[in-house]
Amino acid sequence: MKHLSEYRDGAKALKLAAEIARICKGNWAIMEVCGGQTHSIIRNGIDQIVPQNIEMIHGPGCPVCVTPISVIDKALEIAARRNVLFCSFGDMLRVPGTTSDLYRIKGGGGDVRIVYSPLDAVKLARKHPTREVVFLAIGFETTAPANAMAVKIAQQQDIHNFSVLVSHVLVPPAIEAIMNSPGNRVQAFLAAGHVCSVMGFHQYHRLASQYSIPIVVTGFEPLDLLDGIRRAVVQLEAGQSHVENAFPRVVTEAGNEVAQATIDEVFETTDRAWRGIGVIPQSGWRLKPKYAEFDAERRFAVEDIAPEESNACRAGEVLRGALKPHQCEAFGKQCTPRTPLGATMVSSEGACAAYYNYGRFVHP
Ligand code: SF4
Repeated sequence: MKHLSEYRDGAKALKLAAEIARICKGNWAIMEVCGGQTHSIIRNGIDQIVPQNIEMIHGPGCPVCVTPISVIDKALEIAARRNVLFCSFGDMLRVPGTTSDLYRIKGGGGDVRIVYSPLDAVKLARKHPTREVVFLAIGFETTAPANAMAVKIAQQQDIHNFSVLVSHVLVPPAIEAIMNSPGNRVQAFLAAGHVCSVMGFHQYHRLASQYSIPIVVTGFEPLDLLDGIRRAVVQLEAGQSHVENAFPRVVTEAGNEVAQATIDEVFETTDRAWRGIGVIPQSGWRLKPKYAEFDAERRFAVEDIAPEESNACRAGEVLRGALKPHQCEAFGKQCTPRTPLGATMVSSEGACAAYYNYGRFVHP
């Protein structure tokens, strides 16, 4: 298969679903870690064509959703300052902080701009030497290489009016936190193919063996996902628990070692708070001390901001796979993409947005 359309072939998808139904005897709960996979599963109705004894549990792999409210509040505080040109990916502008969001800051006169790469923010810093240009550097292992590269370039080119507000999170510690959480129901994982394209999957072997859980590296197209589910079910039925790569056209065991070296040069691991979940030890990256000059938190002295999370939103349970979005009382009522109460309804990778956009309003 070489072309995208081949990964969306309906007849092949139904054949794979029938194969899964043939081999699936038990009741299995499989978590797709990534929000991009969640959207593909819901958009393509994959959860509806696999047998009913397979439950797809949606994981915390949406970078916008898990960015802690404290970071949003810091972004709002910095973006509102007079001499700041604040840059972010578009999804982040509507994520609610304690009292506001970046769109409102922009509406109130703040210079908030959507960029498509952190390198665009570096260019803006070069173009506007008298302004402070700040980039909101969030995301999983996929966005970290470009963010690290932006910091390196700023240092190499003596650009001192550029800084990053860093909130990077990592997948393996999140898998570990889910497995250790009370009441966990996940019996197998579909690992996010794009994360593994950067980091490889060597670090998943320990998790598969320690928690006796199958982990299948999976892509994002319908046939990728169905093949990932099929492989997970084969392992579950056979009582096996190892790592399989169902995305070999993109992912290797070692991953992209050049990208990893760039990350290692700029970032070091740290404990990180996940919105709705809490602090997961060693689950994030922060700037290394030698790049402290580019740390927006230090530059703007916003380390001590104390946020307040709304208790109307149940996104934490959604992100842990404990609640389906349409089981939230506010879903589709007080909370819609136009009036979001939580980041999972705002983000293009959020589970609540997937259920809303593809009409999953029915309570099971
Ligand atoms: S539907 Fe809205 S309020 Fe409910 S969990 Fe999702 S984002 Fe939060």
